[in-house]
Amino acid sequence: MNLEGMHVMNTDPVCGMAVDEARALHCTHAGKTYYFCGAGCRHAFEERPEKYLDPSYEPSMLGAAFDWLRAVLRRRR
Ligand SMILES: [Zn+2]
Repeated sequence: MNLEGMHVMNTDPVCGMAVDEARALHCTHAGKTYYFCGAGCRHAFEERPEKYLDPSYEPSMLGAAFDWLRAVLRRRR
């Protein structure tokens, strides 16, 4: 249920930021929908969802940026 004026908040599994479901980028993995603050985080998640779903993973902006950069570099080779 999403009442008018109410935002359903979710947590970006990559960086740990709170994101608004109505506006956030999302992707579906194993039947569950995940929301992201931006394309970088979504991309990082799509590359290695198992890493971000691991309970030992600590969400951080730096980790997400690093993964995204590594993915970009890998593709250029
Ligand atoms: Zn994020």
